[in-house]
Amino acid sequence: MQKSLVWYRRALRIDDLKALSTPMSRGDSLACVAITDTSYRTGQGTCVNRTAFYDDAVANLHHDLETLGGRLHIFSGDAKDLLCRIIIKYGFTDLWFAREIEPLGRKRDVAVANAVAALGVVVHETEDQWLNHPANIQTGNGTPYGVFTPYKRKVLSLPTQEPISSQTGASWIDIGGTVPEKPSALSFDMYPVASSKAGLDRFDTFLRGGLETYHVDRDYPEMDGTSRLSAHLHLGMLSPRRLMQRLKMHPNFGTEMYASELIWREFYAQVMWHRPDTTIADFQPRMAGLAWENDESFVNAWMNGVTGYPLVDAAMRQLRQTGWMHNRLRMVVASFLTKDLLTDWRVGEAYFREYLIDGDLAANVGGWQWAASTGTDAQPWFRVFNPIRQSEKFDPKGVFIRKWVPELALLPDKFIHQPWSMSYSEWTWLGLRPGTEYPNPIVDHSTQRNKVLAMFKTITQSNRDE
Ligand code: FAD
Repeated sequence: MQKSLVWYRRALRIDDLKALSTPMSRGDSLACVAITDTSYRTGQGTCVNRTAFYDDAVANLHHDLETLGGRLHIFSGDAKDLLCRIIIKYGFTDLWFAREIEPLGRKRDVAVANAVAALGVVVHETEDQWLNHPANIQTGNGTPYGVFTPYKRKVLSLPTQEPISSQTGASWIDIGGTVPEKPSALSFDMYPVASSKAGLDRFDTFLRGGLETYHVDRDYPEMDGTSRLSAHLHLGMLSPRRLMQRLKMHPNFGTEMYASELIWREFYAQVMWHRPDTTIADFQPRMAGLAWENDESFVNAWMNGVTGYPLVDAAMRQLRQTGWMHNRLRMVVASFLTKDLLTDWRVGEAYFREYLIDGDLAANVGGWQWAASTGTDAQPWFRVFNPIRQSEKFDPKGVFIRKWVPELALLPDKFIHQPWSMSYSEWTWLGLRPGTEYPNPIVDHSTQRNKVLAMFKTITQSNRDE
């Protein structure tokens, strides 16, 4: 009789999980384990909201496993040592887990797989976090993709793997450990509850209500125009295969765009898989010579939402308070930090991961390198977002700004995007003083634009000279 140990890290679900369904369908005896490493809670850049969201996801996974007659066994400590001890003590013959793509996770997986294999155990690494595992998609020349559109074409040309539903009827082995705590009472306003069920319910509601206008609404931060499932996808409470299957059953205007977004997620994962160095290095090596200024007072103003540019500040304050930021605003604030404040993208990337509940190394690095024009399909370096135009276009009435920057709530629409253009008498008429309740802009956009273009020109010029 085979005895299987299912090791949960991400992919926190029972639906469409090969790491669980395959040993179950073989009739193995089973136990499911999650190991919390203390560095996850105390390490540098730990995000309190994200760890709380993870804890809720684990607690809800435990309940889902109970519906199959099992449970989740929680241990805390070093994964390799604990797994080896459990395997020896209970005589497990097989270890199953969904393969990781992040450099540290990969390192840990290799160490665990080697140690466990040395005990004579069969190690099964499944590909449950992705439609296609990053290692499996290559160009005709056998090289990884560095540009999104051909990658997307390739993915869409492949058959979508059918999701598999979970089954009951396994015999479960008790391996001790603790039971996950009950889900917290914390509410993550911008996200559905951290469970597979809540995620799938939200997706179904979105398919019925939001998908048709997704391609338009997705750009407006004050609208509920996107699926808000990034944290569920990051932790694998949702299977991308399941989402793609349901998406295809709803062909309409937003379907292709939504499929594209899911594929962006995969694209950045394959970049990280093939170029793990780009978590810290520029994807385009020539950009390594950029002379970022990294002015500390500018960075602090950006982090605290007091740059004097209302849309940037509103977005940064929402991030701090809720752990969420809309995609349009991620692009705006990332462009502002890198191109208006001439700050290295790595500073913003680290800060985002400290606060985002959906903080995901591959997507975050991909997004930041895109904004900084150092990445794969990066925004061309000579295109610099204008924070005022972005604000006028995507928050025309300032609804989003007024919510997060309440000191500007009384400003007429025509001044909400650039309060500094109001006269002294207009300020006093509103009972406010210019630059007091809300700061004057810390930089002038046109001046900074010229500066950053000059900075990029130096690099592209010097590259030509070589
Ligand atoms: P939807 O519009 O509903 O999209 C559906 C899903 O597709 C998302 O849940 C997400 O999994 C995926 N997706 C959408 N856009 C992208 C994208 N550009 N890149 C990769 N995947 C995408 N996404 C993260 O999940 N984690 C991050 O840490 C992260 N950091 C980012 C940083 C910057 C600077 C930028 C510009 C983008 C970043 N993104 C990140 C991508 C994107 O902003 C979020 O995935 C999206 O806003 C999540 O909202 P949603 O679930 O409503 O998205």
